[in-house]
Formats: sequence, structure tokens, C-alpha cells
Amino acid sequence: MSESIGNTGKGMKLHTKILLALVVGGAVGVAANLQLGGDAASVVWVNKYLAGPAGQIFLRLLFMIVMPLVFASIALGVAGLGDLRKVGRVGGKAIGYFMGTTFLAASFGLALVQVVKPGSRVPESVKAELMATYADDASTKIDLQATGGFGIETFVNIVTRNPVKSAADGDMLGVIFFALMFGAALTLMNPERAKPMIDVLNALNDVVILIVGMAMKLAPFGVAGLIFGVTSRFGFALLQPLAGYVLVVMGALILHLAINLSLILRFVMGISPVLYFTRVRSALITAFSTSSSSATLPAALKAAEDDLGVPPTIAGFVLPLGSTMCMNGTSIFEGITVIFLCQVFGVDLTFGMMIVVIIMSVITAIGAAGVPGGSIPLLVGILAIVGVPGEGIAIVLGVDRILDMSRTTVNVAGDISATLFVAKSEGLWDASMVPVRERAA
Ligand code: ASP
Repeated sequence: MSESIGNTGKGMKLHTKILLALVVGGAVGVAANLQLGGDAASVVWVNKYLAGPAGQIFLRLLFMIVMPLVFASIALGVAGLGDLRKVGRVGGKAIGYFMGTTFLAASFGLALVQVVKPGSRVPESVKAELMATYADDASTKIDLQATGGFGIETFVNIVTRNPVKSAADGDMLGVIFFALMFGAALTLMNPERAKPMIDVLNALNDVVILIVGMAMKLAPFGVAGLIFGVTSRFGFALLQPLAGYVLVVMGALILHLAINLSLILRFVMGISPVLYFTRVRSALITAFSTSSSSATLPAALKAAEDDLGVPPTIAGFVLPLGSTMCMNGTSIFEGITVIFLCQVFGVDLTFGMMIVVIIMSVITAIGAAGVPGGSIPLLVGILAIVGVPGEGIAIVLGVDRILDMSRTTVNVAGDISATLFVAKSEGLWDASMVPVRERAA
């Protein structure tokens, strides 16, 4: 990726501008919410005409490039790896890392919620009120679960019938599968015949990356708009009865980054966690403000390649897979939410059932789409297994946005770390390849 996002050439680095936008947008949003109220005419006006459009345009620019980016980068990644055994080995390592870290995350979250037990302190009246308020929302999610549950068809559907339709429908796994086949076919062709197509894909990749650069220039406005939209309208009163639950989820997410991921970064990848988090911060802020791993893919690729020095063949192959399959934060959230709701509904789980919850949290985190609220329908499925009524999801829906933002951030931190793991184990990267700090303007 040619143009560094570290330097906009106007004094302040883009990274810093994005961070500032997050802080200012969030602070102004919270102030507006508390002083004027989320429904005040002025707040509604700002959301409708300023913050909303700024956030939406940024999001749309990101989504606009996701599908061509996934297609070009995976096909090129596979073609670049050359031989299919190598593709299998790299893919296997990536999936092993996704599953290993997701399992670790889910177990960690589950242990924490067992110790703190936030669900046993939710009063019956609050439970009834939340269930009544979010009943409609919950039934939509239950319907979604019924149509989009997790079963054998999930695997069959990966083999897309129509890649163009998959791209149009945002079916990432379908596009990934097509791109894998496309790249694999390129490696099997006579190199001379394959070259024109590889040149086209390379050019497509370059074009998309330039558009990513343009979109990221708008990130400060988009991030501020998205954060203002959430904080200015958020029902802070809801946080109170669910404070214990929200704190356990947030605490587990932060501790996962600070302990689990940091130890892996330090001892497996050999990179300082501080350096890692500094380099990926724009991608993490994009994840936080968009609540979507897919929308964050362009920023994540930029961070991995430009700011951490991961070779494009590895980053371009591993990250699109990771953005839909590697969800450490989501598995933490799912495990905790299931146990929390069991506590609220007085369902006692045996040790065996807890293991089932961990395994289901991992599987559904892998299956969830990288879009806002992507894991909720699948979570409803786990609730059914442990004997909590699906409608119980209503209890947590009011605070889900803030948790979604936070878990998506952890998901993306995990995705980018997977590129380091795979590149390092292939002997293609080590910490000395992290580019030296960008110059200030
Ligand atoms: N929003 C999450 C993501 O995109 C998925 C989820 O947990 O709902 O990574």
C-alpha cells in the first residue's frame, strides 16, 4: 500500500485526527444526550443532517470497496502463494489461530462471568420491563435465527451458486470461496496465460487500495458522526440495571486484549504489544465506530501492510478470512451473555453444559457475519440449547450497540494479529520488519 495513512501532510497525522474525532464526537454526543436528551429537536436535526450523513457516507465508502477488495486480495494471495499445498498450509495455520484464540477468549469470558455473577442481581421488575420494551426487536432476531441458523446448510451455502449475487447480498463467505477457486485455478494454469489476469487483479487491487486511502481521509468526519449518533441517542438510563453485565463484558474484552492477546503478541510473535496497538489504532477506532469487521477490513489491511509490514500475500489472504471467521470479542460476548441470561432466568448449568456453551460460542462466533449485530441471531440459537427462552435476548438488546462496538474492536485486533502469526510462522515476517515510525509532517 503506497500512501501511508500516518501522514496527511497538513500537520496533524491522520491517526491522531481519527482518535481526536472519536473523543470529540463521543464527548459532544454524551453531553448532548445528558443536557438536551436524545429526542431533542436540535439533536435529531444534527443526527439527520450532519452526523448521520457523515457517518453513513464513510460506512458506505468502506462497504463499497469490501467485495472487490476481498476478491482481488484473496485471489492474488492464493496465486501469490503459488502452490496449492502452501495455500492449504497457510489457510490451515490461519484457521487454527482463529479457532485457538476464539476458544481462549470464550473460556476466559465464561470464567469471569461465573465469578462475578452479574445476572443474579437483576431485579424481577427490571427483567419484566426490559423484556416488554424489547419484545418486538427480540422476535425479529428470533425469526432471523430460524431462517439463518447454523447447520449443515451453512457449509453447503459457502459454495456460492452465483458469486455476483453473493457480492450484491454481502455474502462474504460466498465471495471468499469464489476468490479461492479463482486464485487456485490461476496457480494451475500455464504461467504465461495466467499473467494477464494476475496483472488485472494487481491493478484492481491497487485501485481499491487508493480508494481505501480516500475513504480513510474522511474517517475523522465519519468516525465523529457515527460516535455522535450512538452516544447522543443512547439510553444511558438502561446502563444502570445492566451495569454489572456491561462491566463484565467490557472487562473481559479489555483483559483479553491486555493479557491474552498481549502475551501472544509478545511471546509468539515477538512484537511489543504497545507497538502493535499503536500501529493498529486507526483500524481499531474504525471497528469501534462502525461495529463491523467487514467494513473495517480495508483499514485493517492498511494497518497490517503499511504499519506492521506484513507481506500483502499473507495479509490479503488471512485478513478477509479473519474478518468473517475470527471473532475473539464476539465469542467472549456470547459466552458471557448466555451465562448472564441463565443467571437471570435461574437456569443452573452443569459443567458439561458450560463446555457446550464455550464450544457453541466459538462455532457461532466463526459463523457470525462481520456486520453490526451479526452475532445476535446465532446467540438466540445457543440460548435455546441451554433452555433460556429466546425472548430473553430482549433483556440485553438495549445495551447491545455499545457492546457491539467494543467486541468488534477486539475481533479486529485478533484478525490483524493472525496475519502476524501466519507470516511469522511462514518465515515471512518478524518484528524487525515493522516500518520505522512515519515522519511527522
Ligand atoms: N459486529 C461484530 C463484527 O462485525 C459481529 C457481532 O458480534 O455482532 O465483528
